[in-house]
Amino acid sequence: MSVQKVLDLIKENNIEWVDFRFVDLSGRGHHISLPATEVEEETFENGVAFDGSSIQGFRGIEESDMVMMPDTETAYIDPFTAHATLIIMCNIHTPDGDRYERDPRSIAQKAEEYMQTTGVGTAAFFAPESEFFIFDDVRYESTTNTSSFSVDSEEANWNTGRKEEGGNLGFKVRQKGGYVPVAPVDTQQDIRSEMCRLMAEAGMRIERHHHEVATAGQAEINFRFDTLTKTADNLMKYKYIVHNVARQYGKTATFMPKPLFGDNGSGMHVHQSIFNGDEPLFYEKGGYANLSETALHYIGGILYHAPALIALTNPSTNSFKRLVPGYEAPVNLVFSKGNRSAAVRIPVAAVTPKGCRIEFRTPDSTANPYLAFAAMLMAGLDGIKKKINPTELGYGPYDKNIYDLSDEDKKEIRSVPGSLDEALDALEADFDFLVEGGVFTKDFIDNFIDLKRGEAKAVAIRIHPYEYGLYYDC
Ligand code: GLN
Ligand code: MG
Ligand code: MG
Ligand code: MG
Repeated sequence: MSVQKVLDLIKENNIEWVDFRFVDLSGRGHHISLPATEVEEETFENGVAFDGSSIQGFRGIEESDMVMMPDTETAYIDPFTAHATLIIMCNIHTPDGDRYERDPRSIAQKAEEYMQTTGVGTAAFFAPESEFFIFDDVRYESTTNTSSFSVDSEEANWNTGRKEEGGNLGFKVRQKGGYVPVAPVDTQQDIRSEMCRLMAEAGMRIERHHHEVATAGQAEINFRFDTLTKTADNLMKYKYIVHNVARQYGKTATFMPKPLFGDNGSGMHVHQSIFNGDEPLFYEKGGYANLSETALHYIGGILYHAPALIALTNPSTNSFKRLVPGYEAPVNLVFSKGNRSAAVRIPVAAVTPKGCRIEFRTPDSTANPYLAFAAMLMAGLDGIKKKINPTELGYGPYDKNIYDLSDEDKKEIRSVPGSLDEALDALEADFDFLVEGGVFTKDFIDNFIDLKRGEAKAVAIRIHPYEYGLYYDC
């Protein structure tokens, strides 16, 4: 969309405010609004200034001036504001006009540019399946609820150590029994449909929505794949709409990977493929799951670098409470067709040559999508460049349920890191593939590790409720 088109859009829709947005290291959106009357052609050339020192992980107070550079392609009308508002996603530049090296969106674009220079293909496609929970929001509850949130199931009450108040409405979802039962068991059809309606209005192509496996209001909405940065932009839209529709319904949504002990967590499986023009590079008839050598090497890169990669795809202490056996979240660094206990799955049902892709199942939505997608592409490209053969390195294929393998067989299989700190150790030791072509910088990685070590420590030094059960009466 040209600048003129955006200016026309503002006029045609009586836009009052233009909301300029950028994304911080953790993947949270930030915004500054300008009166539409103040937005002119120069705004798009010069950008919008903001204070980078007030954003966690960005600049120090002594060099705080930063600039948001709007990307006109991303403009859409905010569905939630009473005053007509146009949202535009921005890159972050330094006052000198360079792309800021810690700007996640610039890193995503650099990864795409880097791929073009490798000659591997012309476009990498991504499609995330970002799961989330919709809980009742305690702020809207009138009565006795004293916990920080309330969920409507027996099992979840057991998990929070609290009994649900209010009558028995029946049709409770059983633990891990939430996968697609119709209403009245599924109480969230309308809320998901409303989310999808607004996403479509905001320019996303919705493929489907459904209740997910967990007991208490777990949901998933699938939208169509696109190139790396566009998909990350879509995911920002997705989360914005999910959170705000939930709020309109008096609910709250969370993308936290494991909010409930003993039930399925929320993942963000990421489907990926590379094309050269119109030609799908991951497909070759006759090979394992009809995968080409390029696809196998891409998988090799993902699995080989997985421990480090996971610091960017699963960057929270809570992420590792999801990555445990028994809940459809991958624990084992292997690949397989169909098998949902493998870190890399190759979907085989209803797959055409163009739809041939790999699914990395480890990530979760605490990942910053720009960083996570860029890092996965860099790992895959490294695999292609170095011809990393996943089978030679012992990554499978494994077509059995790996949760059920004997201890002897399991010895052969490598696991995901057990904690955020372990993943950060791995990233410290293995980051060359990320700094290739200047996509990520060493400064970025050091800064990211510092920030995340801080989070891990803040959690580790706090007293956990479960410790009272273990130790109180010692
Ligand atoms: N919730 C599961 C996970 O944590 C995935 C379940 C599914 O999509 N089949 O990855
Ligand atoms: Mg799915
Ligand atoms: Mg799912
Ligand atoms: Mg999936």
